[in-house]
Amino acid sequence: MPPLLAIDRLTKAFGGVRAVDDLSLEVEAGALICVIGPNGCGKSTLFNLITGAFPPTSGTVRFDGVDITGWPPHRIARLGIGRKFQVPGIYPDLTVAENLDVPLFAPGARRAVPGSERSDAGDDRAAAVLETVGLTGTARRLAGTLSHGQKQWLEIGMVLAARPRLMLLDEPTAGMTPAETAATADLILRIRRQQGVAVVVIEHDIGFVARLDCPVAVMMKGSLVSRGSYDDVRRDPTVRQGYLGKRA
Ligand code: ADP
Ligand code: MG
Repeated sequence: MPPLLAIDRLTKAFGGVRAVDDLSLEVEAGALICVIGPNGCGKSTLFNLITGAFPPTSGTVRFDGVDITGWPPHRIARLGIGRKFQVPGIYPDLTVAENLDVPLFAPGARRAVPGSERSDAGDDRAAAVLETVGLTGTARRLAGTLSHGQKQWLEIGMVLAARPRLMLLDEPTAGMTPAETAATADLILRIRRQQGVAVVVIEHDIGFVARLDCPVAVMMKGSLVSRGSYDDVRRDPTVRQGYLGKRA
């Protein structure tokens, strides 16, 4: 069986800057990994290459054995790669339930059933998603009235509602309180356990990464410079000098 995601020698140059530089990475089905690294090291660009926002300069991305390099974003999404952006992309003037309908109404979802604007199955599914992301009881509230943390969780729910096989989360705890950050780590662990979805998390918050207790890949200047457990990479001299040391 090929890995779920196989990135091979991926490079993206913006003019003279190699935002992603000869990077290779594999993610198995159902796995959870964290990608950490200083600002500007290419983490979001890596996600942009996986999701088809930009074509790479060279290298390949394979998903479930299929070469998706250069595919448009909607095709890649439909294949089962969901992404949460750094800034929450929710619709504040819609209710929480209506926000979840956005991905549910995507091609192939329940709007495809003629005459059934809302189906019981769809409602059950929305309720299950809300429970998974800790938003039970908020379905009728306007999304704009949620707390910052809850908005981020709603967006994770929107990604989840499309039933991806791989979720890419770009700094999901940005702007959160310590309590919300801890709840987000628990949420990610729960999603993985309950849905069997593979998750790649880009993070800046080292405490959050420790709490996830998963394999870590450290990125610097577009390349992966260290891999291992959180403790392994924390002890790695390259990482200490280039990244963690500066923050201590
Ligand atoms: P990170 O997410 O790790 O903070 P990014 O992937 O956003 O880093 O950026 C990596 C580098 O690529 C930076 O030098 C950034 O300025 C550059 N970059 C990112 N996106 C673009 C773009 N669309 N056009 C030009 N340069 C870009
Ligand atoms: Mg970024």
